[in-house]
Amino acid sequence: MGPTRPERRGVEKLLELKVPAAGVVEQHVHLGGAVPIHRLYEAAVDRGIRLPVQSYAEFANLLHRRRDNSGTLERYLEIYEVAERIQSGPQAVRESVLIALNGAARTGGASSVAAEGEAVTPARHQLPIRALELRFNPMKRNGNGIWDLDRVMLSACSAVNEIRTAYKGLLRAGLMVCLGRDLPFEENQILARKVGLWADQGLPVVGIDLAGPESSNPLSDPLKLEQMAELFLLAGPKVGRTIHCGETRAIDVETFVSTVKSLQPARIGHPLAALRAYWEDDDARGLQLMAERGIVAELCMLSNLLTGAIDRVEDYQRVLNTFDQFHIEYTFSTDAPALQKSTLASEIGLLLDRDAASLDQIERSFETAARTTFLSG
Ligand SMILES: [Zn+2]
Repeated sequence: MGPTRPERRGVEKLLELKVPAAGVVEQHVHLGGAVPIHRLYEAAVDRGIRLPVQSYAEFANLLHRRRDNSGTLERYLEIYEVAERIQSGPQAVRESVLIALNGAARTGGASSVAAEGEAVTPARHQLPIRALELRFNPMKRNGNGIWDLDRVMLSACSAVNEIRTAYKGLLRAGLMVCLGRDLPFEENQILARKVGLWADQGLPVVGIDLAGPESSNPLSDPLKLEQMAELFLLAGPKVGRTIHCGETRAIDVETFVSTVKSLQPARIGHPLAALRAYWEDDDARGLQLMAERGIVAELCMLSNLLTGAIDRVEDYQRVLNTFDQFHIEYTFSTDAPALQKSTLASEIGLLLDRDAASLDQIERSFETAARTTFLSG
């Protein structure tokens, strides 16, 4: 095959990227999507966890996130419940965090990964991931109250500290706690209060996030928004704030703006509602607000395609150019590398291959990610 072959062109463009000497920071990865499918299966077998399917083939097919079994955020998130069940309890959480961080360091920067999870590209085609912010919802991993939430979190934190030590400072890592749009207020309240507590105790909890299906609680109700704002206050000033907001049409620009004003995030995951309003109705309020407040957009290209938030890779060119036009900075992450079978390098390679991003845009995103990470040091 000649050099016009798309994969080859993307990989070659990756080689032209100027990668920071300190490596690349990935800001947006979920624990539920960062443990390879075969490891989840083995853990389920090991612990005797009941699965919704009979064979490994069916399990692998079910968990692998593709356009044909996703298509909407709700369907994309459906199988997270399976991963969360398997990752429940202190021991399983510890193991999952170790696998996720090792995986990012070992293969996160490889543009292709073999079925067993090993990098199959030479080192010079890889992006050296040297810092990872890993997010998860401990409340969805306590077996509906079987396990103590503090012990679940302590296990996750201890895994982060072990990795920091094992990698001799070559991999920085921290945890972010996701509140759930699909959780009752009381459960989110417990989580938010604990985040403040854990951060005060010096645990490696660096951020708070809001995640889950947007349609289950879009926060268009002012009362619910006010409640959520209280929870973000409870989490305290020591943690960075990010939210998933506006990936789907469940959140219009009105709600996007009120949510950002109330929750005051430093970064927003998939803030597509702001773009849609501008493109479709010439309504720039969301984009202007992000620009005024210097809010960074956390972008996850493949996951946006899988949830149907974006139709084609090529549409990303318009996404990036619009953010540039409004002087809004952005970073790239994988969201759920193991379940999407992607890596940061493969996704960036694809953007470059389709001319959906320029080298300059990608290089700026690396610089932005390093500057706006919630990790210290
Ligand atoms: Zn996400």
